[in-house]
Amino acid sequence: MRFASLGSGSEGNGLVVEAGRTCVLIDCGFGVRDAASRLLRLGLAPDALAAILVTHEHSDHIGGVPAFARKYGIPVWATFGTLAAMSARFEGVGGICGFDSHDAFAVGDLEIRPVPVPHDAREPVQYVIGDGAARLGVLTDLGVITAHVESSMSGCDALVLECNHDLDMLERGSYPYPLKQRIAGRLGHLHNEAAAGMISRIDTKRLKHLIAAHLSQENNTPELARAALAGALGCASDWIGIAGQQEGFGWRQL
Ligand SMILES: [Zn+2]
Ligand SMILES: [Zn+2]
Repeated sequence: MRFASLGSGSEGNGLVVEAGRTCVLIDCGFGVRDAASRLLRLGLAPDALAAILVTHEHSDHIGGVPAFARKYGIPVWATFGTLAAMSARFEGVGGICGFDSHDAFAVGDLEIRPVPVPHDAREPVQYVIGDGAARLGVLTDLGVITAHVESSMSGCDALVLECNHDLDMLERGSYPYPLKQRIAGRLGHLHNEAAAGMISRIDTKRLKHLIAAHLSQENNTPELARAALAGALGCASDWIGIAGQQEGFGWRQL
């Protein structure tokens, strides 16, 4: 199994996961042409994708999904809640597959386990994806770590984990107060110390990759995110990967 990022952050997200003959894209917050060129950077043709798995209806995750799916004839998987929130925009998309946020399903050689998360969307999920040998946990866009999130991410071989903001930078920064409240709230985004707290509590014995994702360009720095996660894991900070807004990250092997 291997995975890579097209880009991560409030301006657009996309992550590819591949095992055997199956490659899926999680979210597409980029326009069709931009997404295709980001895939090409990873050596992937758009029509090689078996599915697009959606996490929730915020535009940095779903913005490019309908047009991309329509153009390349790719089935879209999303929770019934996300589909209900987006129904008008999915007209003309061929294969729409709804699922309940607690039900696992398979796409080709990949086992997909949705993980419900507290976030201000209709029925948001994140994912644990496995090929029978290894498991990748993808966890962004959540306000707090729940017990269920924690047990789902425990024992994974790789984690892509939201480090949205540094609390001090957010508090002192220029965002209007209501936006600060939303980001720091229970249905907002994870700050560095909250992400680090989860890492210190879960089973990380199998962890071969830990990548900080969905970093705010205003309220965080890669150095702060790396330092928080490295402190929790007890590793060198340059071992922690960063999913950048423009560059994402290249293929990581499991
Ligand atoms: Zn987001
Ligand atoms: Zn979101």
